[in-house]
Amino acid sequence: MEHHFDTHEETARELVELGNRLADLRPEADLRDIADGLLAGAVHWWLYANQPCEDRECEECAPISTADRRVAELRRLLQEFAQSSDYYHSPTDHDVAHA
Ligand SMILES: [Zn+2]
Repeated sequence: MEHHFDTHEETARELVELGNRLADLRPEADLRDIADGLLAGAVHWWLYANQPCEDRECEECAPISTADRRVAELRRLLQEFAQSSDYYHSPTDHDVAHA
């Protein structure tokens, strides 16, 4: 997936802009509801795009060849993207020590 890095970056940026647009359109909306909707749509789209091909010997599709494997791959990516986010740690995290 790393070899489509520009598409990856651009898509992520567009999705963030969509979230910002939706939040601007509905100032009364809970940001967490918008975030859950974005995530639900992203997961749905990811599963659609990651269906294995029909070749049961295909090595490229091996990591996504069953529902359980796809979810494992999704979790791996989720962890990776979360940890690389600027928002992974928050100054209001309950495990942050206050001086
Ligand atoms: Zn394949």
